[in-house]
This record gives sequence, structure tokens and C-alpha cells, in this order.
Amino acid sequence: MELINIKSLLDDILPRKWYNILPKLPEKIPPYKLPSGKIVRAGDMYRLFAKELVHQEFSSQEYISIPEEVLDAYREIGRPTPLFRARRLEKYLDTKTRIYYKYEGATPTGSHKVNTALAQAYYNYVEGIERLVTETGAGQWGSALAFAGNYFGLKVRVYMVRVSYYQKPYRRTVMEIYGAEVYPSPSEKTEVGKKILEEDPDHPGSLGIAISEAIWDVLQDDNARYSLGSVLNHVLLHQTIIGLEAKKQIELFYGDYPDIVVGCVGGGSNYAGLAFPFIDDILSGKKEIEFIAVEPKAAPSLTKGEYKYDYGDTAGLTPLIKMYTLGHHYRVPPIHAGGLRYHGMAPTISLLYKHGIIKAVSYNQTEVFEAATLFARLEGIIPAPESAHAVKAVIDLARKYRNEKLTILFNLSGHGLLDLSAYRDLLDNKLVDYEYHRKTIK
Ligand SMILES: *Cc1c(COP(=O)(O)O)cnc(C)c1O
Repeated sequence: MELINIKSLLDDILPRKWYNILPKLPEKIPPYKLPSGKIVRAGDMYRLFAKELVHQEFSSQEYISIPEEVLDAYREIGRPTPLFRARRLEKYLDTKTRIYYKYEGATPTGSHKVNTALAQAYYNYVEGIERLVTETGAGQWGSALAFAGNYFGLKVRVYMVRVSYYQKPYRRTVMEIYGAEVYPSPSEKTEVGKKILEEDPDHPGSLGIAISEAIWDVLQDDNARYSLGSVLNHVLLHQTIIGLEAKKQIELFYGDYPDIVVGCVGGGSNYAGLAFPFIDDILSGKKEIEFIAVEPKAAPSLTKGEYKYDYGDTAGLTPLIKMYTLGHHYRVPPIHAGGLRYHGMAPTISLLYKHGIIKAVSYNQTEVFEAATLFARLEGIIPAPESAHAVKAVIDLARKYRNEKLTILFNLSGHGLLDLSAYRDLLDNKLVDYEYHRKTIK
């Protein structure tokens, strides 16, 4: 009897709707544009994305129902994911501040990315699309989409940033286990890739280039659609399942509510996923919370970038998006946090940053991996290099607020068990820090 009740309690925590922040933003997000200045409308995007995803991209509905099939898939991957209190870390830091984390590493592919991958694969499957094409940095997004494509019976092709393809061979293997085709980017498969390789045969690649290749590929095949793992509104929408669950869990299990919400930002999706349902409370004037986004010093789009129209990719195939950017030509140094190696930032996160609702900090990778190692020794979980940025910020905050009894909630967006070479470098004193030095942003 009791077991049955626990099961239904867990299922009550699983939300039935995603939270859409668009109608609540302090101002409308500036429209996507073409280089000619023409505004991009929904119809212009159907060639690239499933129609329902395009509708979600522009939706003004505050809550959007999660289809039954996607809810079932969420249940099967173990949602709701756990919310933990980091008691041993609190004790070690000798702080009165409480630290909680939502653990998205508990999914089959080890990160939050599967939350949107399943939704995207589902809508494409319903619309009769046969193949999905995408880019991946460290490989988490590619693994998630490979898994989701396989789940709904779609073929998946992944352009993987070249340094990661060779530095992180296990992720490629994961994708191939789920049946995806994987190419190192820049590749010989596309015109974009060929051109870059001609200029520099050893180009390490970047997310921006891989996006260009994936889009080029989709444009050659009518039955293919593109799939993006971050940045866009519909991706962030699907990730709000994280924050909606966390809100119920922290209240139900701990009777608590956060004063500070922290997460790492690459394109912004895991952080938006956790933060947006809480931002809703402050936009409605119900609560006061500090929101802190954490980025690498090697790719500091919020802390060092400019708020302006820029391309989402390197070759300039995407529409222009108003966002904080380091410029689409910025060559992001090969830090281990592959998922944070991106020149831009989600337009919604950018807007909230501009309004001062979200703040940002940046760190070097050595201090980040030191913090993550401390966390692993105390809490057991080895954080993904990306998530480790959030861990570093949380440790600094918990020290700063040692006597204040605040509540910090952060997103542990993934585990680092396939990133041990990064931890190996730390243990061998071989980690190198790269800092962004501002020139003009083009
Ligand atoms: C991809 C990834 C990120 C960065 O992407 P966002 O869209 O900013 O969330 C962060 N953490 C993990 C574990 C990732 O895989």
C-alpha cells in the first residue's frame, strides 16, 4: 500500500505542462531577423524545424501541455530526477547556508539534454520526419538526441566538434550504440566544412561551425529536420520541467524555498530550465530571489560580450538573434567544458540579464575542477565539467553567506564520468586556463 502511494507521490511531482516565460518577460524579445533586415516568421522556419516546435518558439501561452507519449518517456528515463541537499559540503564549508541541487545526471545519457531531445524527437516523429541532424560539442547533446531518435524511431546524424570527437571518444561510442551516425566537424561532408578545412586542416572545430554543417545537411534533404540542443525558446521551454519539479520537491521534502538559484550557462538551457519557474515568482512580485549564471572565462558571453544581433553559427546560416555574444567568429579555446564553448546566449536569458534579473560570474577551469573534486569527495557525484562551474560558484556563495542562513539551489546538469580525462589533467597539474581578451566584437 505504502509503496503504491510513494509511486503516485513521485508521479504527482512530474509536471503535466512546461512553463513558457515569453508572455511574462519584462519586454518582448527582439524578433529574429535575416541579414536583409526582414523579420523571420514562423513559416520561414518550417523547413528547418518540426512545425509544432516552431509554434512553441513563438507561443504566448504561459503553460504548454506535455504530450502523453513524452510524459511516458520522461517516466521511463526516471523523472522526476532527484533533488539532494549537500549536507556534507555545507558542513565542510562551515556555513549556515543550505545547499540543494537538482541532479540531472541521473538520466540514461547523463545530462539534462534528454528532456528536450525526447520532446523534439516526438514532434518530428508525429510530423512524419525521417531523419534528425544536429551538432554536438562534448557529445552530451548528440548522445541525448541519438537516444531520443532511437526511442521514437528516427535516424540521427551528428556533427561533433573535432577536438571533442578525438578527446572524448566514449561519447561518440555512446551515440553509435544508440544508432546515430557521427562525423567530426569541420567535416568533408558539407561545403561549409570543406571550406574551413581548406584554410586550416587542423581546425579544432566549434559549436558554431558544427551548427552550420548540420543546417547545410538538412537543406539537402526534404525528409530531414534540424534539432538544436540549447539557445532557442522551445528548447528552454522543455527544460522547465527541471525547475517545475524542483519547486515541488524543495517545498514538499524540505519545506524550503531558494534565496539564490545558480546554474552554468553555455547556450542557457539547463539554467533556464531550473530558473524560469522561479523567475515567474519574482516577475509576479511574489518572491525575491537572486539568479546567478556561471560561465567560463574562456567564453564569457554575458560578462564580456555585447548585446546585439548576431548569427547563432559561425558560417552565418542561422537568422540573426539579439543576444549577448562574443561575435560569431570568436574561436572559443578548447576548455574541457565542451558544452560551454559557445559564443552566444539564449535570447531570453540575454534579455533577463539586460534587465538585471539574472546576474553572471565567470571562472577559470582550474579553480572549477578543484571545486568539483572537493564536491565529489564530499557528495560522491563527479560533476560534468560544465556543471562544475555552478559548483564553484555555489561554494564561493556558501562561504560568503556563512552566517546568513540562506538557501541556495543549483542545477547539477550532468555527471562527469565520461569526462575523466579532464579530471586526469587536474590531478596531473596539466590544466591550462584561457582567458578572453576583448578586441572588437564582430
Ligand atoms: C550542454 C551542457 C551544458 C550547457 O548547455 P546549456 O544549454 O547552457 O545548458 C551544461 N551542462 C551539461 C551537463 C551539458 O551537457
